Amino acid sequence: MKTITNILLVSLLLISCDESPEPGSIQHIQSVTKAVDNLRLLKADETPGDWLSYGRNYEETRFSDIDKINKSNVNQLGLVWSSNLETKRGIESTPLVVDGIMYVTGPWSIVYAIDARSGKLIWKYDPKVPKEIGKKACCDVVNRGVALYKGMVYLGTLDGRLIAIDAALGQPKWEILTVDTTYSYTITGAPRVVNEKVIIGNGGAEYGVRGYVTAYDAITGEQEWRFYTVPGDPSKPFESKAMEDAAKTWTGDWWKYGGGGTVWDAMAYDPELNQLYIGVGNGAPWNRLHRSPDGGDNLYLSSIVALNPNDGHLIWHYQTTPGDTWDYTATQHLLLADLTMDGEVRKVIMQAPKNGFFYVIDRTNGKLISAENYVYVNWATHIDKKTGRPVETSFSRYAIRDAEIFPSFFGGHSWQPMAFNPNTGLVYIPALEVSHTFGHDSSWVFKPNEWNVAIGRNPDKEAVRDTLAPRPIPQGKLIAWDPVEQSEVWRVQYESAWNGGVLATGSGLVFQGTAEGMFSAYDAEDGALLWEFDLGTGIIAPPISFEVDGEQYLSVAVGWGGARGLSNQYTEYIYPGTVYTFGLNGNAAMPEYPKPATKILANFEYDDDENLQIKGASLYAEHCSHCHGRVARGTGGILPDLGYINEATLSILNEIVLNGAFLTKGMPNFKQTLSENDVFAIKNYILSIASNRTNEETNGNNK
Ligand code: CA
Repeated sequence: MKTITNILLVSLLLISCDESPEPGSIQHIQSVTKAVDNLRLLKADETPGDWLSYGRNYEETRFSDIDKINKSNVNQLGLVWSSNLETKRGIESTPLVVDGIMYVTGPWSIVYAIDARSGKLIWKYDPKVPKEIGKKACCDVVNRGVALYKGMVYLGTLDGRLIAIDAALGQPKWEILTVDTTYSYTITGAPRVVNEKVIIGNGGAEYGVRGYVTAYDAITGEQEWRFYTVPGDPSKPFESKAMEDAAKTWTGDWWKYGGGGTVWDAMAYDPELNQLYIGVGNGAPWNRLHRSPDGGDNLYLSSIVALNPNDGHLIWHYQTTPGDTWDYTATQHLLLADLTMDGEVRKVIMQAPKNGFFYVIDRTNGKLISAENYVYVNWATHIDKKTGRPVETSFSRYAIRDAEIFPSFFGGHSWQPMAFNPNTGLVYIPALEVSHTFGHDSSWVFKPNEWNVAIGRNPDKEAVRDTLAPRPIPQGKLIAWDPVEQSEVWRVQYESAWNGGVLATGSGLVFQGTAEGMFSAYDAEDGALLWEFDLGTGIIAPPISFEVDGEQYLSVAVGWGGARGLSNQYTEYIYPGTVYTFGLNGNAAMPEYPKPATKILANFEYDDDENLQIKGASLYAEHCSHCHGRVARGTGGILPDLGYINEATLSILNEIVLNGAFLTKGMPNFKQTLSENDVFAIKNYILSIASNRTNEETNGNNK
């Protein structure tokens, strides 16, 4: 039956071949998306008008070699269209575009196909992720994008499925569960297609999972191989030689806690070497004293790993943070380039992982070429060139005394993609500079599927505080980095730490959105601000550029949220998720979104019993603060600041927390972990804090 349908479709296509189909029609979408095959992906740079894969090409340069919008006319950029996705929560998606057909993802793994000529929605596909899954997602219910191949759109869903969707019809062709749902795995990253295989990883290290990456046949969905990043129970046979070797670098009972090492974002591919590069995440739990109590490097945590994409075998690895204990993932953007160094062309892979050092590595063999810090760093003094290992500072492992460490677990750079302009030779890094005071939690016990980081504060001893460190505002930076010289060429500073990913274009422009809602263009050579546009809502996703019918456009998907956006906000309002597209002389009006009502701090009676207060504060810190922020200091992100809780919500708090009354809004059900008495203590704590807070405190914290 399938074959007959296919024959019919092919015949229909052949019949309509005389005239080129109407742009945006099913026939048009079918023909342009089916043409995205291995050759098109390999030669992505030869079609600069399209954006066919997550990083634009296999090197993941995010360099769009189009120059119609340039330094002399960028100030004429205007809005061409906007498309309201009608969502709340963070949008981290990179839109893909082929001949003006755009595929972009929103929160809860929903995919939108949009006609980029008009902004009109072609189809929307909702994989119906159960809202309970929100509890398993550390950093918002985001999705970073899809892959496109031979007429299919590949989507990784928050609940761990890989779905192949018909690119023209928006209907699923097949669906595969890639995770064991008894664990807290989530997928937020974009799949990549290499040699007709779809490669997908997952996240969840903070909840005690074991990381891996899997390859599926792009056509049939059949599993081809799986590479685990950390060893399992050593009393059972190892899956590979790589796992056998890795197990020698672990101690204790790590496998009981999953071990971590999730591959939740970065990948790149070198077709000439036939090497697939993956970025591996942090350990589970964070604190090595609990995970691997007698030390060890804990391979392949926080490593860049090269695999053979045909069979998933390890080729080489480079560990950026041996024995990670700070959530220093190496899942950040992996970027390939051929750089001339000391008169020799070197095939390199570059990364600015969370640990604050910028690495240039020989991608043929995984050997370190150079590494220098791109933000302020105090966990290590430098990277030893001979051994390739960091030289740690005496206090960095916070075993005896708490220590203020730079960078924090947010990293010097997170998932927000960088960009590389081969003409300037510069890498543009969306960086941040914040610290975290780490302490050893000696009372930690593993709780399956719960937040398991095993860090805490020990107030009996004074923490090591870095008096030389930069204090905290401005916290965000756009850094132009020379990877050959390993030095900063220019920077733009932002008050906020959580800004958008970066795009570089062939005309020497760099585009970035900010937490303050500004979409800006800079001169790639000196960082001069050439244009900016206020979108009103904080931007975290990277922009893209594409060309259709001879015109160049820029698009950015805007939706405030993500890890730091859950409980922080830098714009007056947060508007619905929206894709904005700009072009020369665009003059569309901004969408008119209703302004949210003014909020009033809760001011209700509460019990000032000290024990009840302590209980409430501790329960709040453990179960609420991760998403709703610290109510004491005033917060406000995409999730509610509970200081503004109103009477109606208060009256049904038990229903919300213990019976899932707000599950459809994404508020998890805590029935398994909290009692009615607990909820009473939390409620009492919120009221006591809110009643003693002022609105000014809230605003002061957010800015
Ligand atoms: Ca992490």
